[in-house]
Amino acid sequence: MDNLKSPKHDVHPSLPSLLIRDAHIWTKNDIIRGSILIEDGGIQRIARRISEPADEEILARRLVVLPGLIDAHVHLRDMRLSYKEDFTTGTAAAAAGGFTTVLDMPNTLPPTDSARRLQEKAGRASRKILVNIGFHTAAVGDRSAAKAMRMSGAFSMKLYLPRPIAPLDVADDRKILEVLKAAREASIPVTVHAEDAGQIGGTGKIRTFKELVRSRLGRAETSAVKRILGLQRQIGCRVHFCHVTLPSSISAIGSWSSGRLSSEVTPHHTLLSEDFVKTLGWKAWMVPPLRPPEVRKNLFRAMATGAATIIATDHAPHTIKEKRRSPQRSPPGIPGLETAMPLMLTMVNKGKFSLGRLVHLLSTNPAKVFSLNSKGRLEKGADGDLILVDMKKRGKVDPEKFFSKAHYSPFEGWKTHGAVHTTIVNGSVIYQEGEIVGKPGIGKVLQNGRHE
Ligand SMILES: [Zn+2]
Repeated sequence: MDNLKSPKHDVHPSLPSLLIRDAHIWTKNDIIRGSILIEDGGIQRIARRISEPADEEILARRLVVLPGLIDAHVHLRDMRLSYKEDFTTGTAAAAAGGFTTVLDMPNTLPPTDSARRLQEKAGRASRKILVNIGFHTAAVGDRSAAKAMRMSGAFSMKLYLPRPIAPLDVADDRKILEVLKAAREASIPVTVHAEDAGQIGGTGKIRTFKELVRSRLGRAETSAVKRILGLQRQIGCRVHFCHVTLPSSISAIGSWSSGRLSSEVTPHHTLLSEDFVKTLGWKAWMVPPLRPPEVRKNLFRAMATGAATIIATDHAPHTIKEKRRSPQRSPPGIPGLETAMPLMLTMVNKGKFSLGRLVHLLSTNPAKVFSLNSKGRLEKGADGDLILVDMKKRGKVDPEKFFSKAHYSPFEGWKTHGAVHTTIVNGSVIYQEGEIVGKPGIGKVLQNGRHE
């Protein structure tokens, strides 16, 4: 029956088309009732009624369609850290959490500190990914190295102030200026972990996780943010501040309207205070650490009012065995991809902030900050990355069910209201109602500025 194939299929073997029928669709600032047709991996039409047939159909009467979420800060490990997480388990966790694109951090083994390493990592990821992935690289002051990483698709250079990923004297302002200049010339943002090493206390006498948390006070962040902002002003490059924990940092950074400076908050810093460390210990240990209740509350407000630019999870999986070590030796970090959206939808359902704000923080704004120009919105011509959300579904955070290899969470047992129902990546259904239904390889490796 081969001769009955449509000519279109003979010329361009295309992806099956997908019709989402009768849904509540988030378009820019409003929800409309209608249908979405996806062809060849992209949104072809959004209309009240679409009658033409598609290869696959989803009837979505009770569901809300949102643009696929973008997590600009994940650690998917792989390579020599695959025992903690690999590209398949990490992107499965992303798909289950409603993230259709993730940007992966460079502190891997080996580190992503050159164009060659970036290409190797991208090649390895391409066969294993269920969602789209892009890569950040280590901060370097060498201009040609920065340019080469940019040409290989890097989304940013990560400046990790407490302990640089590639050799760099981070205490020397002149060295930081070299990084910022190299970034400006390569047209690439610098992503900063803003904690000044000099302000972080020693851990020698520490016996508890509570004491460990108190050894990294907010002043380490305050001084780092101030310092980097001062240097950025001299160069004018783009700087994105990762996981800031203090409302004062968000006001110092200011709004994204300049297109130069942006801020990121995490679900854990906005929902959990340091009081949780007493009872949860290693499960609530990450850097920067959790902050006092008043600070936490004001950080949540900064997020809910739109003062912060984006939400990212800082998904940072480790084994439970590693996490259970003594406070000095327990690696910081928690998995976050599978809890962020249900927790934030719960906040929306409680009236703490609007669904529109959430879409901006988790999709529209990260797309803008990291130049993912065909993502972060639902309209004709945009990529076929979208999620179907059930606003009414109730659940409970159960780390045993995570697709991530890291089966722990400080949110264990939290009741949730609102859930990701279906995740669609490049026009293909990849996750539906608790199951991964797509195959690794559906996700694409994205290159900064070259993914369209
Ligand atoms: Zn991180």
